Amino acid sequence: MLGTQRRRRRDLRDERASVQAPDDLPCPWCLAPTLETDSRCPNCGQRFG
Ligand SMILES: [Zn+2]
Repeated sequence: MLGTQRRRRRDLRDERASVQAPDDLPCPWCLAPTLETDSRCPNCGQRFG
């Protein structure tokens, strides 16, 4: 029983992680996912750098 609970918890965490981290570089202002090649945030327009 305990083992089953642990497994379910782990699966939930993995799902969350993949959903919350679509990119390595979220915008520092609005936290929108951005590309490494973006010089500005596509969401809020703030400049990076
Ligand atoms: Zn932004």
